[in-house]
Amino acid sequence: MQIDELIHGVLAGERRSVARAISLVEDGDPGLEALSAGIYAATGVAGTIGLTGAPGVGKSTLATELVRAAREHELRVAVLAVDPTSPYTGGALLGDRVRMQEHATDPDVFIRSMATRGHLGGMALAAPEAVRILDAAGYARVVVETVGVGQAEVDVAAATDTAVVVLAPGLGDAVQMAKAGILEIADIFVVNKSDREGASEVVRELRQMVQLGGVREWQPPILETSALHRGGVEELWSAIELHRTYLQTSGVLEVKRHARLLREVEALAAERFRVNAARTLAGEPQLAADVAARRLDPYAAAAMLVRKASGS
Ligand code: GDP
Repeated sequence: MQIDELIHGVLAGERRSVARAISLVEDGDPGLEALSAGIYAATGVAGTIGLTGAPGVGKSTLATELVRAAREHELRVAVLAVDPTSPYTGGALLGDRVRMQEHATDPDVFIRSMATRGHLGGMALAAPEAVRILDAAGYARVVVETVGVGQAEVDVAAATDTAVVVLAPGLGDAVQMAKAGILEIADIFVVNKSDREGASEVVRELRQMVQLGGVREWQPPILETSALHRGGVEELWSAIELHRTYLQTSGVLEVKRHARLLREVEALAAERFRVNAARTLAGEPQLAADVAARRLDPYAAAAMLVRKASGS
């Protein structure tokens, strides 16, 4: 498929084009630059929602329920499940989730898992472009579900408008999440599996942690859900929409997105430069030899490399 055709297809919201475009992102395909240029003006419309939390807390189940809620509100919705740690999951992550299947035939729902195979800079750089593809394709809400709770997941979740941090009794305790830096990025807390024993203790523990954070303009609410039984999902949906309204009316959305885009441009440029520097260095064996022989110190060598690499 030609890139122009692909851009046209994405902008028209065609599933096949959207799927293909996301594959280009995963692969770090050279066509990505043209694709990005072709769709960018049509982005910035979708509300993006991050779902982060330890494996097993019920993110996938919640994502399915959020899809249902979005459809009940007559919104087109996409779910992107990203696994920053594994380059091999593409396609398998959500495909076998039975609950997701019920949405499989709805033309206004797009569900896809994503891994990075060749995108430079990994998932933190690849995910925002995949989200923009879904945005340009006219999905009004894009749910980004991450797998696991490492730094990469925090980065991906922080790149959404509304970061929902999910906990469950017996899984991924709050202290552990605080250490991973996840609590700081939360706009909404969800204690899922509220049908299980121990849910109210998790809520209490969370409340104490949130209070330690002091008073903020947006106080992250702590909600309880039982996603498996569809309990509390409408309340979660309302909280997400309320947060979106807050972001829009306060002007925080614009500030947040602006900062995010700047960080992204900087990271993309840095990544390009890193690759360029490595290539330049490989082509300058004398430089490396001089450093090894103590004729040139590492700082001077780096300065030379910066000059050479940025000149090319
Ligand atoms: P993820 O790894 O965070 O995406 O978690 P999943 O959505 O795959 O859910 C993990 C397991 O917990 C599955 O067996 C779900 O059926 C179950 N589960 C999800 N939500 C609930 C809930 O609200 N209550 C109970 N009891 N089980 C749930």
